[in-house]
Amino acid sequence: MKKEPGPGFRKKQIELEPCPICKGKAVMKGVFYELACADCNGSGWVIAGSKLVVSTDELVTQLSFKLQQAQREIAALKSQMVGRQSQYEKLNRLGAGGTNYTGD
Ligand SMILES: [Zn+2]
Repeated sequence: MKKEPGPGFRKKQIELEPCPICKGKAVMKGVFYELACADCNGSGWVIAGSKLVVSTDELVTQLSFKLQQAQREIAALKSQMVGRQSQYEKLNRLGAGGTNYTGD
């Protein structure tokens, strides 16, 4: 039998979307200076669909999830770029010694 972890053991990631009021900028242009946007708790994010404000406690965790996800994506993109770069260099090296190498 598979044992599932009970509810409450794992934090659930809430789907977030950019705040429609401040357009995800987290601040609103005041007359003299920028103010933290009240509609998203100054985070720039609201709960997707319901557009509800995430509580400050929950927000810290949710933003951390989002940041970790973004960092993973950046790392994946970087390794992809490195992979492409080394492939390109390999092709260049092959071509350097014998241009027009046809293989016979
Ligand atoms: Zn906002």
